[in-house]
Amino acid sequence: MTDEPAPADAGGALLVPAAGAAARPDPRALPAAPVTRFAPAPTGHLHLGHLVNALYVWGIAGARGGHVVLRIEDHDRQRSRAEHEAALLDDLGRLGLAPDEPPIAAFRAGTTAYRQSDCGAVYAAALERLRAAGLVYACACTRTTFAEWEAASGRPWAGMGCPGGCRDLALDEARAWSASPAAPGLGLRVALGAGSERWLDLLAGPLSDEPAAAGDPLVRDRVGNWTYAFCVVVDDMRHGIDLVIRGRDLLEATPVQLRLARLLGRTAPPLFLHHPLVRRVSGQKLSKAERDTAVREMLDAGATPAQLFGRAARLAGLRQDESPIAAGELASLFGVGS
Ligand code: GLU
Repeated sequence: MTDEPAPADAGGALLVPAAGAAARPDPRALPAAPVTRFAPAPTGHLHLGHLVNALYVWGIAGARGGHVVLRIEDHDRQRSRAEHEAALLDDLGRLGLAPDEPPIAAFRAGTTAYRQSDCGAVYAAALERLRAAGLVYACACTRTTFAEWEAASGRPWAGMGCPGGCRDLALDEARAWSASPAAPGLGLRVALGAGSERWLDLLAGPLSDEPAAAGDPLVRDRVGNWTYAFCVVVDDMRHGIDLVIRGRDLLEATPVQLRLARLLGRTAPPLFLHHPLVRRVSGQKLSKAERDTAVREMLDAGATPAQLFGRAARLAGLRQDESPIAAGELASLFGVGS
């Protein structure tokens, strides 16, 4: 499920179009009036990879009369920064990308139901349902546990599960609930159970996989952060997301998220679209630390939003050239006959 990097760009650019994967969904397969989301983590500035994601999210919503939810995924309290959130809201405004929900001003005004750090009580209530069903257990594994397992087995630990067998240890859950960065305690995991999940990816087709193969996910970590794996599931449910559009690096996370959603009572899973990733010529994924792909620096240097969308469309493999595309025209990439 990895994208092979294409040969180096003729122009010597740092980035290469994603290769080896379909980029454009069949317009007839796109659902009518989807509710989708743009869900960045404020751990750095928006880069070209986010721009590719935004192009799919706003483009498909625009082509199908859909609705875009903006969610700030700042569940990781140590890595998230208020100044990065302010910068990404600002960058979206400069790009001409407005969510349907909530208004950008709602983030600036204070508490919203769309910023994860404001929603701890929501995640606690969701986890309580799973705890009452006997599915939650405390986990004492640390980096050392993983390193010891790897040293003993001679291979890297794969998946997101627990190498320490904590499920059978009945550790004290109170030590997880009181955990904080100043006083690390235990993590909490959800027992997923056996069986497979099936889902439809609008680019990869029908898929199925066993969530247990990845191991029981950590839902709250040793310093008291709710984890991505849990927040994203709870939030996609409460925000009514029925089309998840994101990069292919999250394709393998999908079966675990589907199982968590099912355990939380979601009856109809969302549709998914995992789009190609933009990579460096070296094959590496983009990172937020790399200033040369930061949207704001390119705008500051004089690039127009339309030029950046044109570039993103080519990098995603949606277009052969970089001709500019205005924010209001992104739907043209995903319509019938495009
Ligand atoms: N917050 C994630 C990111 O910035 C997106 C997660 C998702 O779309 O499920 O990569």
